[in-house]
Amino acid sequence: MTTHAAARPLENRRAIVTGASRGIGAAIAVAFAAAGARVLVNHAGSADDAAQVVGQIGGGDERVLCVQADVSREDEVEAMFERAVGAWGSVDIVVNNAGIQKDAAAHDMTLAEWQRVIDVNLTGSFLCARAAVREFRRRGTPAPGARTVGTILCVSSVHEIIPWAGHVNYAVTKAGVQMMVKTLAQEYAAERIRVVGIAPGAIKTSINRAAWETPRAAAALLKLIPYGRIGEPDDVARGAVWLASDDADYVTGTTLLVDGGMALYPAFRDGG
Ligand code: NAP
Repeated sequence: MTTHAAARPLENRRAIVTGASRGIGAAIAVAFAAAGARVLVNHAGSADDAAQVVGQIGGGDERVLCVQADVSREDEVEAMFERAVGAWGSVDIVVNNAGIQKDAAAHDMTLAEWQRVIDVNLTGSFLCARAAVREFRRRGTPAPGARTVGTILCVSSVHEIIPWAGHVNYAVTKAGVQMMVKTLAQEYAAERIRVVGIAPGAIKTSINRAAWETPRAAAALLKLIPYGRIGEPDDVARGAVWLASDDADYVTGTTLLVDGGMALYPAFRDGG
């Protein structure tokens, strides 16, 4: 039996992480860099936050790039990929992490709230996945020492499975991302391009601050988490490193739940 586990499992890989100025994306960018990858830190406008992440990674353009781009805009996504390819010759890993919420009861939800979440979470993931596939196919061979030609990792959510009243726009995008992962994985597996997902549960970031900030909110949230603690961005980042590495070489078209058991219908512990 051979093992491929390595201290720096992403050595020689060139990665783009969208929405990496804070939260889960920032943790993934830092963990990828620690695992040996060169990382492009993308943000939509939080330049100062992104600069902090770049500073944490350290090194010059050879190790880390910082690019402002709205993932819902085709021209900005193309320019972001051109920047990475121009600096590093190619890209090996793309993490579709950028995501937003614009919550409202369905009967109050404006078309703009519906559309913006679709544009960023779903269309943005597609535009980056398409650019990634085009670059992987142009290169055609794995990076030195790598098995896969390229990996696309989509940050989904437990809400790709769990319906979420008051968030229909968000839940629909995550269900869409799940099917995009499966469909693109099927489409490109023969070219040794892997497409995988990671589905966080409740992770302490700015996107859901109201859900964990007060003791009362945290207690209510914990009732939904069998494992008994709210997740941290690093919980997701560790899974992301594994999924992006050759240790997960035979894994494609599937999504890893990193949720402390949130998707296990915890209400059924004492009922049903
Ligand atoms: P966050 O703290 O709000 O960070 C969101 C990141 O996305 C920021 O870096 C933000 O950059 C970026 N972003 C937003 N719109 C963008 C756009 N149009 N183009 C490029 N970047 C954009 O959120 P998070 O909790 O880390 O969430 C990251 C991902 O995890 C999302 O896809 C989210 O749905 C998913 N997720 C989170 C949780 C959770 O509990 N936190 C659970 C399940 C899934 P700017 O500040 O520059 O806009």
